[in-house]
Amino acid sequence: MRSFTAEWVVPIHGEPIHHGFITVQDGRIAALSRRSDAGADPAAIDLGRAAIMPALVNTHTHLELSHLRGVIPPTGRFLDWIRAIMAMRREYPDPGDARIIDAAHSAIVEARSSGTGLIGDISNTLVTPQLLREARVPAQVFYELLGFNAGDPESMTREARAKADAAASPDGTVRVGLAPHAPYSVSPRLFAAIRADLDAHPGHVSSVHLGESPEEMEFIRRGTGPWRALLEELGVWTGAWEPPGTSPVEYLERLGFLDRRVLAVHGVQLAGDDLDRLRSLDMTVVACPRSNRYVGVDSPPLEAFYAMNVNVAFGTDSLASVQDLNLFSELAEARRIAPRVPARSLLESATLSGARALGFGDEYGSLEPDKRAHLISIRLPEDVSDVEEYLVGGIEPSAIAWLEPETPNAQLPTSKSRN
Ligand SMILES: [Zn+2]
Repeated sequence: MRSFTAEWVVPIHGEPIHHGFITVQDGRIAALSRRSDAGADPAAIDLGRAAIMPALVNTHTHLELSHLRGVIPPTGRFLDWIRAIMAMRREYPDPGDARIIDAAHSAIVEARSSGTGLIGDISNTLVTPQLLREARVPAQVFYELLGFNAGDPESMTREARAKADAAASPDGTVRVGLAPHAPYSVSPRLFAAIRADLDAHPGHVSSVHLGESPEEMEFIRRGTGPWRALLEELGVWTGAWEPPGTSPVEYLERLGFLDRRVLAVHGVQLAGDDLDRLRSLDMTVVACPRSNRYVGVDSPPLEAFYAMNVNVAFGTDSLASVQDLNLFSELAEARRIAPRVPARSLLESATLSGARALGFGDEYGSLEPDKRAHLISIRLPEDVSDVEEYLVGGIEPSAIAWLEPETPNAQLPTSKSRN
């Protein structure tokens, strides 16, 4: 049994506890209270001026693109970025390339050292589940399928399912499911095949990039524009595909693909009716605001998401479109573009909402008795009057320490060692 006390304990599902106290037993949270309450362990490790909170959840990234950090410059035109990514994928044809593996491994270490404890990872090659297992980072990996003109979506999905099952960890710590890439790169039949797989696996979740760019909106509504040009260039355009004439959300809803187990990633272009649909389906939008700016699609309407009561989680997206995997930096960008959203709501999005959306809500994302003790401590400066607001202002990794699970060589920032 180990106990910690600090100036603040931030449980996420309730008010921050001033002079809080938390006890951990066998890797799970045993108790949580004010320090003055009866039962507080006098032998508790005192962290002093710090906030204890659950590890953050990065609900959307692509670890296997980590070797592209800083390679593709920010752009004002989304299709330029897409073309650059496609060219880079051709330059690294071997998914087991040591440069890819090393960069993905470093990215996992970096994410963890910036306080992230659970990851939603998109993979086209399935090299990441093994890396996540080795690093002991719980994760939901989405094996992403593309095919605007796929010949046999059913057998493609069957084969993908077999690979996904083989890559998952037997103890359920690293799960692997199937996910379609986006409405403009996946055929209706492939969507149906992936949906059938999801229906056959009731505990699983899926994910789709949705409403990211204006080019996507134009293509789904009218079948025209830069996406059409790219599909033709790639030789996969087919006249059998009829433009739905709707928004991407309405299109996928009509296909029967959407429900609460499908994460809608980005949502930059969504408003009004689409947000209503997502809310009534109890879906989660995963916002990646720093990446959105980087790839030239503007910022997501975060205040509208919260005002419409849509579930919101946060992701960094890949290192090909963001400077680092520090989810606290994502929170700072969220605060910048959504100044009226309460800090507590932003923090909940970065923890509990992400954990729930990934199917890990019973174990992670908040400090509650019996949940896993995935605890981080944030060093606070003097005179923090609103700890929740402080935590969404951008936190550097140097101020972050893991308390549980303990890591070898980790230095606990006790009040004594700071004197
Ligand atoms: Zn993505």
